[in-house]
Amino acid sequence: MSLIVQKFGGSSVADAPSIKRVAARIVETKKAGNDVVVTVSAMGDTTDDLLDLAHQVSGQPDSREMDMLLTTGERMSMSLLAMAIRDLGFDARSFTGSQAGMMTDAQHGRARIVDVTPTRVRAALDEGAIAIVAGFQGFNTDSRDITTLGRGGSDTTAVALAAVLGAEVCEIYTDVDGVFTADPRVVPRAQKLAAATYEEMLELAAAGAKVINIRAVEFARRHGVTLHVRSSFTQDVGTFISKEHGGEAVEEPIIAGVAGDTSEAKITVVGVPDIPGKAAEIFTIVAGAGANIDMIVQNVSVHEAGRTDISFTLPIEDGERTMQALEDAREESGFESLIYDDEIGRLSVVGAGMRTNAGVSAQLFTALSGAGINIEMISTSEIRISVIMRSDILPDAVRAVHRAFGLDGDVDATVYAGTGR
Ligand code: ASP
Ligand code: MG
Repeated sequence: MSLIVQKFGGSSVADAPSIKRVAARIVETKKAGNDVVVTVSAMGDTTDDLLDLAHQVSGQPDSREMDMLLTTGERMSMSLLAMAIRDLGFDARSFTGSQAGMMTDAQHGRARIVDVTPTRVRAALDEGAIAIVAGFQGFNTDSRDITTLGRGGSDTTAVALAAVLGAEVCEIYTDVDGVFTADPRVVPRAQKLAAATYEEMLELAAAGAKVINIRAVEFARRHGVTLHVRSSFTQDVGTFISKEHGGEAVEEPIIAGVAGDTSEAKITVVGVPDIPGKAAEIFTIVAGAGANIDMIVQNVSVHEAGRTDISFTLPIEDGERTMQALEDAREESGFESLIYDDEIGRLSVVGAGMRTNAGVSAQLFTALSGAGINIEMISTSEIRISVIMRSDILPDAVRAVHRAFGLDGDVDATVYAGTGR
């Protein structure tokens, strides 16, 4: 008998009819002779609503209490799902993160899994039951407090369970048919990928593709868990994510996808003294502020000789804190001023075949210039090229680049539900 882990996202369990539909689907898998472990997210936009609520009662909600609050979302969906499955005549048992042995460090809101001891999940399976585990939550054994894994963390819960239970596959059910060559909400002619490698998926997720959480992909890669991203609204096969492009793919595609992201801001440190040690100083301050920086560019200053301007991008939510930390160090460090810009968009093209194909950047820049788009920053990895532009033109740019690389399909992709948030 094989074990399958299935994860259902918030848009797949948004209301009572959806929960019943998902229950029926889980039962199908069980009937086909598999052991089934399910991880579920909070219903619809519940997590966002709870966050809004917390901010209405407190200016700076306490992080321990925030985790207590947010984990209720998954308790609702897991228990309702278990009830619905039982009504279909199958045994089902729901477990909180701590009941499922999901042990984490103590960092509220962004806890990392340190160990998984799913004793009760195994026992439930042994008794023929379907086990349902609340996504996105864990437990710290030192503080004995409930933790959450960070937004979108249910994917990681599912992959961690799949890894320790030795599941055949971890199915990630969502509101689109799989991983697409671009967000179908932006590019209607985007096409579903039959397969992607862990590496491609990591780059796509880092570049803003929201279909699966990046930490979950990292986890899957480390433990060799095969992922199957598919729609909960159809029976169609989705996208398989594993070490290599398997199946019919004869050669790795040059471009697997185009992603757009508007979640970053740009800080420019103007007039930095052009002497050794200044970059180290600035990025030590930035690191001290806890900012995760992405791209960095250094240029001769437009203002004054003997000085440079350093620009870098970072998540918008780290912006204010980082600006403050830099401002506090301005006099001592000797730079002139700071510019903050949160209206940037990042476009990335990703593909494992880029490694062995020259000319991808030329093709990308030609497509962007054809669309009249000005490039502000560029960065590359082995299998990715990213460019920064104004955020308002990003959707047009993504469409233009998708077309230029011949990725447009013949028909519009279907988006079944959800807001994509
Ligand atoms: N409900 C949580 C969130 O919205 C976890 C998840 O959906 O994966 O972030
Ligand atoms: Mg959610």
